[in-house]
Amino acid sequence: MKTKVQLKTYKNYVNNQWSTSKKTREIINPFTGNPIAIVPEASKKDVDGAVAAAREAFDRSPWRDFTAQQRGRILFAMADMVRKNAAMLAELETLNCGKPIVESEFDMNDTASCLEYFGGLATKIHGETLPVPDNALNMTLREPVGVAGLIVPWNYPLMLAAWKLGPAIAAGCTVVLKPAEQTPITTLEFARLVQENIPELPKGVLNVVTGDGPTAGRAIVESMQVDKVAFTGGTETGREVLKGVATSNLKKVSLELGGKSPNIFFSDADLDAAADGALFGIFINQGEVCSAGSRILVQQDLFKKFVGRMKEMMPRIVLGNPLNRDTKMGPLVSEEHLEKVQDYIEIGRKEAKLVAGGRRPSSKELKNGYFVEPTIFESDNQARIAREEIFGPVVACIPFKDEDDALQIANDTPYGLAAAVWSRDIFKCLRIVKNLRAGIVWVNTMQPCYVESPWGGYKQSGHGRELSLHGIEEFLETKQVHINLSERPIGWY
Ligand code: NDP
Repeated sequence: MKTKVQLKTYKNYVNNQWSTSKKTREIINPFTGNPIAIVPEASKKDVDGAVAAAREAFDRSPWRDFTAQQRGRILFAMADMVRKNAAMLAELETLNCGKPIVESEFDMNDTASCLEYFGGLATKIHGETLPVPDNALNMTLREPVGVAGLIVPWNYPLMLAAWKLGPAIAAGCTVVLKPAEQTPITTLEFARLVQENIPELPKGVLNVVTGDGPTAGRAIVESMQVDKVAFTGGTETGREVLKGVATSNLKKVSLELGGKSPNIFFSDADLDAAADGALFGIFINQGEVCSAGSRILVQQDLFKKFVGRMKEMMPRIVLGNPLNRDTKMGPLVSEEHLEKVQDYIEIGRKEAKLVAGGRRPSSKELKNGYFVEPTIFESDNQARIAREEIFGPVVACIPFKDEDDALQIANDTPYGLAAAVWSRDIFKCLRIVKNLRAGIVWVNTMQPCYVESPWGGYKQSGHGRELSLHGIEEFLETKQVHINLSERPIGWY
């Protein structure tokens, strides 16, 4: 007889205490299809409780008197805690979202670096004095925006939480953090580590609630007690968020949304480096990357050779147990997402030419996981697989004639998150860089992301920027202060 494994049960973290919700959800390992934990499914009331704790902490707790140095030290302590527990957190991330363990390890390092960066930035937040035409001192004060609701997707669970938590804490905000319903485990473990290791953090500054978007996410977005929402997710969900913000208290909002990023290759690019960059640009993290180079634009005379070279290199993308160090591609995050990606592959078979992949791997080891082969199509830019965000390992390769044609195709998308251009001709590269409508542009590489540099999109890829000095702006208000130095009356009446 099979014995039932006892699953670890988590709770919401509210006001430095662990609280349950009436409903719960099983969290699934996408490699095995088996449950690995049970988490709360927060109701609106549960979220309101977390918001009330964050509100109280912002308005009345000792957090208000924390100096910038103290806030910075909280973030350094969090970073240190992540580094000390990186192996455990990376393994949990991989078990929960299916990404290869080596990638999860990079994510944990990036998570800690992000917290360190914003820890350092806490003491660099300052206003300015302004030369107004009067006998006065005119200045600005920078103040925290208040209670921040942080809503995170499932592709980089803890790292994207840190992208928001770092600047929020540095600025002096209090937060309610909601991870994606499929992947909350590392964020809950992070909260546990904070409780155990950083007792000086006042209660209510960090609150974590787990639950689904339409209930828990919406409750944050529509709360009259939340001053700002920092959201990362799909463009359609972003639209819902804006509606919720518009019909509640017009809270501030930043949106990091989807993309359909062009990766552009001119015929003078180094073929091997370029084909390798094309594969990395789309297939890293199973293609579940907002900035994925999901449209590969190749100059006509190189097109066939380039696509052929990509196909030859495909066996290097080893599908396997994501806990194995040599696995290069794990399962997709969920059965539901696998179905969505497979639907797009079927659409692609009808409207484009399949070059490689497209099936589910048949080996016994992988049969329970939500795997799909990395898939390459030859397409035009009007096909649905070239226009809609698939968010999986599926790429459309599109030929172009010349520079103008490349730019026209690259910019012919509702999205504007990222783009890359590959050529040995620096003049051409720079002309392309200048004319691309995208928030991030790489030259002769694709995907590097640095906490020191801003991240965010043009067009329907979002509002605002994360990371860098720009990222902290999203969590700050600016107060103008005018101090009259003249002792004479105004004298108007
Ligand atoms: P979703 O938009 O489905 O969800 C994102 C988050 O929003 C989740 O926590 C989700 O909760 C929550 N949510 C869902 N509905 C609502 C709602 N009505 N109100 C408030 N919150 C809600 O995105 P995915 O999780 O599927 O993530 C993939 C998307 O994220 C892709 O489009 C990708 O491009 C984008 N992304 C963008 C990045 C960027 O920097 N621009 C970076 C990474 C990803 P739940 O999961 O419980 O439904």
